[in-house]
Amino acid sequence: KPRPERRNEDFAALDQAHALHPWQHFQGMAREVPLVITEGQGCMVTDTTGRSYLDAVGGVWCTNIGLGRREMAEAIGAQALKLAYANPFVDVTNDPAALLAARLAELAPGDLNRVHFTTGGSTAVDTAVRMVSYYHHARGNPGKTDIVSRENSYHGSTYLSQSVGKRNGDRIEEFRYKTEGIHHLSCPNPYRRPAHLTEAQFCDELVAEFEALIARVGADRIGGFIAEPIQASGGIIIPPEGYLKRMWQLCQRHDILFIADEVVTGFGRIGHWFASLAEFGVQPDMITCAKGLTSGYIPLGALIFSDRIYQAMSQGPSGWFTSGYTYSGHPVACAAGLKNIEIMEREGLLPHAAKVGSYFETRLQALSHLPLVGDVRGRKLMLCVENVADKATKALLPDEANESKRISNACEEMGLLVRPIGHLNVMSPPLTITEGQVDFVVETLER
Ligand code: PLP
Repeated sequence: KPRPERRNEDFAALDQAHALHPWQHFQGMAREVPLVITEGQGCMVTDTTGRSYLDAVGGVWCTNIGLGRREMAEAIGAQALKLAYANPFVDVTNDPAALLAARLAELAPGDLNRVHFTTGGSTAVDTAVRMVSYYHHARGNPGKTDIVSRENSYHGSTYLSQSVGKRNGDRIEEFRYKTEGIHHLSCPNPYRRPAHLTEAQFCDELVAEFEALIARVGADRIGGFIAEPIQASGGIIIPPEGYLKRMWQLCQRHDILFIADEVVTGFGRIGHWFASLAEFGVQPDMITCAKGLTSGYIPLGALIFSDRIYQAMSQGPSGWFTSGYTYSGHPVACAAGLKNIEIMEREGLLPHAAKVGSYFETRLQALSHLPLVGDVRGRKLMLCVENVADKATKALLPDEANESKRISNACEEMGLLVRPIGHLNVMSPPLTITEGQVDFVVETLER
């Protein structure tokens, strides 16, 4: 039987009848019916009614090279025909996975030379946390398994990665997080620092807090520290000057592995392949990445780590690394990753992101004078506007005011997608965005 052609309302109704979305709010949906996106080209997406929007969110921080690239589709299609799948377990590999591992080793800073492929960011973080235990155990420190993270961090949505992260709004009664062996330090948010502290004093306090935690819990128990160089969905938090470097130095002093969660900051979002060393002077022991690794064309994540960690684990008493996924090193996903990197290099998208991102930072400041806007912040193509009830006290509007959702909905009416997170409107467009498109984003937001 031929199926009837479906219209926008049909898809929305089917979705509402059968789907459950990530972070769906059962009572407070952002809009009455879901937006049904059917096409995408560059920074633009189109819904089933034919309306176009500039997607300033870049999917979910991930469509870095922009949508609709024929050569990505061809690379994915060609690999699917040639070899759609290969078992990644025990001494079997495939050519795209081997090539991409070598490419990532070249692009990663310093001695990060080994890659374990995962299915996305959450599973990369999960693996990193487990690797901390493998590493220290192999070196004769089996008690060094605790993980230190920060308030307002987001590290994924598996049980372990969500427990390591702690976006305060996500912590609800109905769900029990893993708490044993996980410690959360203060969020390094300069805008919301205690009023009596300068930014430098605030930084001193944050570092002292970590020192005190190490003294209290013991360096023989703390195995790893995980940090997004810039906290992304926690609210585009750029830490105080010198903070990450000082936290890293503490890690080095106490044999604590530094895990940089670059799921958002990697692959050009702030103008570098990876932000830790290039932007913040930190040489991490591990990097987790996903999203921009394939620009969202197909799922893939990676944990990049050093030979030193590899060697230590390989000499451990059990001789096993008992972690991995059916889709680790998926040939089609790795072929997409290779093509994605090739496009970024050939088109100079990293320097472009740095340039257009600086322009965006400056242009967005134009919104600072608006009565609702408490803070405008960001770096390159990771930006947000924080809405407040009172600019002087920084008091927030009540949640019921839904101001960032109302702003996002109004922008949508004007052909722009920005993301409401709490009291923020967040932007992370494709790296291909032009200055003209930045002007449109800022002017629309201002209206
Ligand atoms: N880490 C960070 C910093 C993220 O922002 C995200 C997702 O937004 C993740 C990890 C989880 O990645 P995924 O959703 O691919 O599992």
